[in-house]
Amino acid sequence: MATVTEPRRLTKRSLQTKLLIDGKWVDSASGKTFATINPATEEHIADVAEGDAVDIDLAVKAARRAFDSGPWRKMDARDRGRLITRLADLIEENIDELAEIETLDNGKPISEARGGDLPLVVDCLRYYAGWADKIQGATIPVRGNYFTYTRKEPVGVAGQIIPWNFPLMMVAWKWGPALAAGCTIVMKPAEQTPLSVLKLGELAIEAGFPNGVINIVNGFGETAGASLVAHPGVDKIAFTGEGNTAKIISRAAVETMKRITFELGGKSPNIVFADADIDKAVDGALLGIYLNQGQCCCAGSRLFVQEEVYDQFISRLAAKVNARSLGDPFDPATQQGPQIDKAQFDKIMSYIAKGKEQGATVVAGGERFGTKGFFIKPTIFADVKDDMAIACDEIFGPVLSVIKFKEVEEAITRANTTDFGLAAAVWTRDIAKAHSIAHRLRAGTVWINCYDVFDAAAPFGGFKRSGIGRELGEKALDNYTELKTVTVSLD
Ligand code: ADP
Repeated sequence: MATVTEPRRLTKRSLQTKLLIDGKWVDSASGKTFATINPATEEHIADVAEGDAVDIDLAVKAARRAFDSGPWRKMDARDRGRLITRLADLIEENIDELAEIETLDNGKPISEARGGDLPLVVDCLRYYAGWADKIQGATIPVRGNYFTYTRKEPVGVAGQIIPWNFPLMMVAWKWGPALAAGCTIVMKPAEQTPLSVLKLGELAIEAGFPNGVINIVNGFGETAGASLVAHPGVDKIAFTGEGNTAKIISRAAVETMKRITFELGGKSPNIVFADADIDKAVDGALLGIYLNQGQCCCAGSRLFVQEEVYDQFISRLAAKVNARSLGDPFDPATQQGPQIDKAQFDKIMSYIAKGKEQGATVVAGGERFGTKGFFIKPTIFADVKDDMAIACDEIFGPVLSVIKFKEVEEAITRANTTDFGLAAAVWTRDIAKAHSIAHRLRAGTVWINCYDVFDAAAPFGGFKRSGIGRELGEKALDNYTELKTVTVSLD
């Protein structure tokens, strides 16, 4: 691969590497650190403080104090909203630096970090800033001479555990509704990508959030993450990541009856009918699978194509995929960067091997790109059968399985034959058919003639094993509020 051109402004000194506890940047109590690696070069970027149970305890106590007795508790909702707006403004002012840190630590192309993720982060926080003073209860007509009303009160200390695929976007999705609702936060970033989250912590302090409202503890899942889940001072856990981790978390969280929301994996069906706008559908299929190196929970990894257009669709896909530019994520022309780390790289390569073994046909990619960095060529498998591993399991990489179908009913049944239910898409010019299929797909989001369209106002989350609850939109505020009923005697 060509040399990677890291921007000069990102010196080691400008990176934040400590823990944010009670408004202060501190080393971990143990003094331990861990390395974060540039996935494009496999080189060391920085050593980051490694939090464990002791640091989590300090952070939870700070968040508890801030929630129970700090100025945050008494702050008017509208002023809370203004602080969130201030944070969004600061992110916008520092958008280039944040995008560069995201690309450095995660490997995503700078054009996506700068042009995709960061604007959505700003927009999401502004959206929730607007909600802060609009979280309302209701008056309830009850029997007898009583006046009954409800209040939506903050749930308390929110423990938030996020993955590495969209670090800053995951922060916005989690901080936005939690702060609007009046919660305090202990966040654990993914061990692969702490740097951009820490930078956001600096901006949160600059914005003026009171001490202890936002705490960030880097560390590993089994230590820092598990301690956060187990801590009796935490009222709620919001988690995005793998289904198996969610099972461990939910077993532990039930001990203290924490509220939980999960946003997990998928194997989303993307269904193209012969009557679709084929040019648009080809581009939509590519976006659906290759965005973010295929590291999207809602990736359209099962592409169902109707038999009349199957062959031409595959050749058009292959032509475009072979023209995709891979390499230095800091090059503005790059469309695909490296996978996040060696473990993910190995897992994806093993699925590619399984696809070949089980008899699917490689029509593009199917191998590593270059010799350094965790790059994998965008891969297309044709002749995929529903029971092959590449059609059933979430690969979380740039691997598309193309499956042939004949009829509408068959497409719906086969699309729904999965334990997941995060997203789906339908491509057709027949709008009645599109809506009726959308209603029958067992997925939390269905896109019609588009893919990966996100908006802070539109709820997102999974049916079946893809999650519990919804993020984004008004709905996400429920994750961070408790409903209280107050009844007054009027006698
Ligand atoms: P991914 O494949 O995205 O790394 P994980 O579910 O392993 O998925 O990780 C997502 C987040 O969950 C990370 O921040 C990770 O550190 C954290 N995590 C992993 N294991 C646990 C655990 N046992 N308890 C709490 N958090 C965990």
